[in-house]
Amino acid sequence: MCYNERGTEKAMEKIGIIGAGPAGITAALQAAHEGSKVFLFDGNDQIGRKLAVTGSGRCNLTNAHLISERYYSDHIPTLKTILEKFGNTHLLQWLYEIGIRTYSTEDGWFYPVSNSAANVVEILSAHLKERGVKIVLGSRVQTLHLSGEIFEISLVGGSEPYRFPRVILASGGMAYPRMGSRGEIFPWVEQMGHTLIPIHPALVPVLTDTRPIHALQGVRLDMGIQLLLGDALLGETYGNAIFNEWGMNGPAVMDLSHWIPFHEPGSLALKINFLPNQPDFLTDVMERFGNSSLPLQAMLGSVLPKKLCQWALKGCLIPENAQINQVPHKDLANLAEWLTAFRLQVKGTKGFDHAQVSSGGVKLEDVFADSMQSRLQKGLYFAGEILNVVGPCGGYNLQWAFSSGMLAGKAAGKF
Ligand SMILES: Cc1cc2nc3c(=O)[nH]c(=O)nc-3n(C[C@H](O)[C@H](O)[C@H](O)COP(=O)(O)OP(=O)(O)OC[C@H]3O[C@@H](n4cnc5c(N)ncnc54)[C@H](O)[C@@H]3O)c2cc1C
Repeated sequence: MCYNERGTEKAMEKIGIIGAGPAGITAALQAAHEGSKVFLFDGNDQIGRKLAVTGSGRCNLTNAHLISERYYSDHIPTLKTILEKFGNTHLLQWLYEIGIRTYSTEDGWFYPVSNSAANVVEILSAHLKERGVKIVLGSRVQTLHLSGEIFEISLVGGSEPYRFPRVILASGGMAYPRMGSRGEIFPWVEQMGHTLIPIHPALVPVLTDTRPIHALQGVRLDMGIQLLLGDALLGETYGNAIFNEWGMNGPAVMDLSHWIPFHEPGSLALKINFLPNQPDFLTDVMERFGNSSLPLQAMLGSVLPKKLCQWALKGCLIPENAQINQVPHKDLANLAEWLTAFRLQVKGTKGFDHAQVSSGGVKLEDVFADSMQSRLQKGLYFAGEILNVVGPCGGYNLQWAFSSGMLAGKAAGKF
């Protein structure tokens, strides 16, 4: 629904929220709950456009093992305070209260019972309507201007600006721009004195040298991955990843991708351990079957996909049909190195178009942790990905959007 109330009416006790993603929606619901009159703006024709595609359409809402240290930000203490005030248990309780039931996978990733991000958006939308939030869709905010103590929001193609004493900026970062977040708000925020941390793609598939992994296309498995700059360790993950025609995708490699834009691509390498859960596997095979005529490839197949076994043997110049007792020790040592410390040169990332989030944005230190209000501009609040906070895959980023949105809505909504 699109309301057309303009700034000619009294500006007091009204809040304008730019961005109807999870951060803006939560802020709107909470501010309305506090008794404020809330206007929620989004350039898309519907709310929660990106939220509706999260978790491959299933919406990975949060994580049971959430800790602030797993996020990347300029100010972890601020982040920690925010998550203490509204963390994963608060979020799950709040979702329950508004009628969204959740469940957790074995590894602690929370989803709605419906397994439907679209259903989550629909329920949030119904609550916005019930709480009287005025939703203004289909026109992008063109300018945010401060006139005395009043913020003026002008829409593309709009005539008179909307006027508010308080504004919450929840316009996201620059990832997946086709869903609406393109970063045009950052220069206005900078003009108001805030520090912008350079914005880069994060949680994004990684481009690598493809020659060594050509035969692995389509192979998916859990692996341990280190990102190295020369021999220095930048980051380390464990999880699922898949090989494809341009490099690697999946949580284990995406969780390392935010480091890549800061370095010359050629200087970085992934060091992959294909046997993170079976560290003694090769030694055990040699001890128990070393003198046998069993085929090595078949034995490797007990813990690895066949395509990967064939690829590793070929890479170590061991014949595909070799029996264990025919393989020289030095070749077995090579194979062990290949399977536990395989190095792959990084060439870059797939960029903003394929990134789940962006790193950088408004410096987190520029906001008060208890209210999300700017330290530099009274009446201006921030929530979500617009701030310099990036979490790993597993629900960390939606949790951040909900947490910061909740605190911003609560503080801005109390006049
Ligand atoms: C494919 C994909 C899958 C993902 N899966 C998960 C997952 O399962 N779990 C998880 O935790 N995270 C996931 N994420 C990340 C998550 O979606 C984001 O962290 C989250 O959406 C950020 O919320 P936000 O409200 O800050 O910003 P956004 O969701 O980006 O919302 C910002 C809104 O502001 C609007 N806007 C921006 N500028 C303007 C303007 N000038 N005028 C009007 N409107 C404007 C945009 O249209 C947009 O709707 C995924 C992301 C992608 C792309």
